Amino acid sequence: MPSIPDPESPAIVWFRRDLRLCDNLALLAAVRTGRPVVCIYIREPSDEFAGALGAAQACWLHHSLHALDQSLAQSGNRLLLRTGNPLATITELTTLTGAASVFWNRRYDADGVRTDTAVKAALTERGIEAKSFTGFLMHEPLRLLTGQNRRYQVYTPFWRAFEAQVRIQDDLLVPSSMAPPENLPGSESLTCWNLLPSNPNWARGFEVHWQPGEAGAQARLDAFAEDSIDRYRNGRDYPADMSTSRLSPHLAMGEISPHRVWNATSAVFNERTAEDVVQFRRQLVWREFSWHLLFHCPDMATANLNSRFDSFAWRGDSDNLSAWQRGMTGYPIVDAGMRELWQTGWMHNRVRMVAASFLIKHLLIDWRQGERWFRNTLLDADQANNAASWQWVAGSGADAAPFFRIFNPIKQGETFDPSGTYVKRYCPELAGLPDRYVHRPFDAPDAVLTDAGVVLGHNYPKPLVSHPFARQRALAAYRATAQ
Ligand code: FAD
Repeated sequence: MPSIPDPESPAIVWFRRDLRLCDNLALLAAVRTGRPVVCIYIREPSDEFAGALGAAQACWLHHSLHALDQSLAQSGNRLLLRTGNPLATITELTTLTGAASVFWNRRYDADGVRTDTAVKAALTERGIEAKSFTGFLMHEPLRLLTGQNRRYQVYTPFWRAFEAQVRIQDDLLVPSSMAPPENLPGSESLTCWNLLPSNPNWARGFEVHWQPGEAGAQARLDAFAEDSIDRYRNGRDYPADMSTSRLSPHLAMGEISPHRVWNATSAVFNERTAEDVVQFRRQLVWREFSWHLLFHCPDMATANLNSRFDSFAWRGDSDNLSAWQRGMTGYPIVDAGMRELWQTGWMHNRVRMVAASFLIKHLLIDWRQGERWFRNTLLDADQANNAASWQWVAGSGADAAPFFRIFNPIKQGETFDPSGTYVKRYCPELAGLPDRYVHRPFDAPDAVLTDAGVVLGHNYPKPLVSHPFARQRALAAYRATAQ
């Protein structure tokens, strides 16, 4: 029989990618003990619990931890920051505070699962209650399985099973009080973690676009539900349109729960919005699917899901990689996307697909190089979504795009950015071009280029590679892999 804890022995909440007070089952469990609550965030030795923390996301993490600490302060508590091995850190904290319980929301990457399993076993052995909850995802990858008890490999059956079997948790409020113990230990200083860039401060532009933290996430969700969900289905592929939710950095850091996002769409569901809501939910469930894959295929960020790709003849071209990273490929839609990423820390989904396809298929550069660049520069860098999406575009992943689908960057631009609004926003040197040439400046007559002030190879690059040549080269390389 477990002993009844002393009413003064605290319950510890170990925050990870769940930096919020609402809809936080681990926090709620701690508050419901009626005992003092200790809140901790541990900076783990690997620098991250879910893969190396990229530079852009480190910056977001700084603001998000600050926001969480401020919210806790309003409830009379605070966030302790610690660096170290989680097992040693939690063990030390339970000893220092006399805590009788430790609660956390589950994570699903291999390192995280291994660590949490070890922590749970060690605490239990010492008679300390250790409990984990669902908070980062809506489904549990171990429980939602096919009829043969296997992982899902294809999205549509996963979506059907998700719809039929997953119960979406109701919204949970912020607990009204969560007093700390009297002997709350000291915290490390967030500033000393040096998560922010300083010299130069390349993240300055991010502040215009984003408000990290739970309040920013909720404001983003409210704005999306009020203003743009009813144009999601038709607008989501148009990068100039801003009709997607832009919740991804908040979801990646757990500042808002996916349940809450889903429930907000129920509140606006009606005859007029039904198709938009379903489309949006399908995207939200792609996130679940990606994590389902990562849980069952832990090395998805580094190894091809389809091992046939292990022998793919990638080209190790560092000049082309660098041109792609800097938005200097000579294809405006790709360049606009890569510059949007650099300036705002985010890129529209349609353009992510085109830019990724360009790197992989036009330049024949290994998808892992792109995955790494995105992980370092995206504010929403998400180990599962990023790897699954890169493998999807490469054709090496689950439910992958067929290899003969090679996005034509000119046609993609003309279809989804017909008047070049998006391109002109991020490639201002092309702003003077007439619409018909904005996605193909290399086809414009000299007089048109001169009028627009564009000098190819001088103030805007010539294409790194011609589309017809690149297409044939990619098809040949893919055929060799497929056979
Ligand atoms: P919305 O359209 O409003 O969708 C709502 C939420 O659903 C998103 O916030 C996201 O959490 C989820 N979602 C949407 N599309 C996808 C998708 N295709 N796969 C998985 N989840 C999805 N998304 C990330 O969150 N992190 C990444 O690191 C990431 N890397 C990507 C890399 C490539 C090459 C590609 C093609 C896509 C990547 N995505 C990634 C998926 C997608 O581009 C973003 O989730 C989306 O653009 C975020 O914008 P939003 O919040 O406005 O999306």
